[in-house]
Order: sequence, then structure tokens, then C-alpha cells
Amino acid sequence: MSGRIAYEQHIEELARTHRVTVLRLGEEMGTEGCCADCWAWEVVLPASIRTKWAYFLALHEFGHLLDPDARRGYFPLEREWSAWQWAFENAWCDVTGAIMWRVWSDDAFGSYFEYAVLDGEGDEF
Ligand SMILES: [Zn+2]
Repeated sequence: MSGRIAYEQHIEELARTHRVTVLRLGEEMGTEGCCADCWAWEVVLPASIRTKWAYFLALHEFGHLLDPDARRGYFPLEREWSAWQWAFENAWCDVTGAIMWRVWSDDAFGSYFEYAVLDGEGDEF
């Protein structure tokens, strides 16, 4: 089974099992604009999951719904990190250094971290 097919298959399976509505971004958006809505029980994902990064990002959005700490955590950082942990634990493949690097970059968790520190919330952990 090639990676790309497995990525989409896993996403479909998660959506079906947990009855999550999956909305897709336009092709031109790439991975920009992924999000999760815990109230509507839906996730917004890239048009297609072609890369490992897009796959982990998609899992992260599911994590926002399916991980209790990601849903109810008091601090945004706690919710954000819990959703990433859920992605790492539930992925069908190993988390590589490149993925970790990207998670900590401004593309993802890193941007929240910066924001929280500026906000003073960094003290909390
Ligand atoms: Zn997130």
C-alpha cells in the first residue's frame, strides 16, 4: 500500500468511525487553513493528503476533536499540544525528525508557543 493511499484511507476511517464531517480546502490552499470545530464536529483538511506533513496535520485536527485534553484543556497551548500528541500516537507511520521540526516551527505549534509567550501564558508551563 503506498503512503498516499494509506493516508487518505486512515482519514476516511477516522471520519467514519467517529462520525466527523470532513471539509476540504481548495487545492491552491495547500495545508494553509486546516482547522477543527469541536462544536460542529468537523475538520477542515487539505484537498488531498499527499505528504507526510499533510497527513500529520490532518491527524492533528482529528486530535482536536478526539483527545479529551485537546478538547477541554484550559490553556490553548495544552489543547494544541494534546492534539499533536494524539496525532503522534495514532499515526500509521513513525514520526520523523522532519515532522517534529515542522511541528515546532512557525508552521504549527511553534506559532502558538510564540503567541502564548508574548501573551504571558508561557509562564504556565
Ligand atoms: Zn491545532
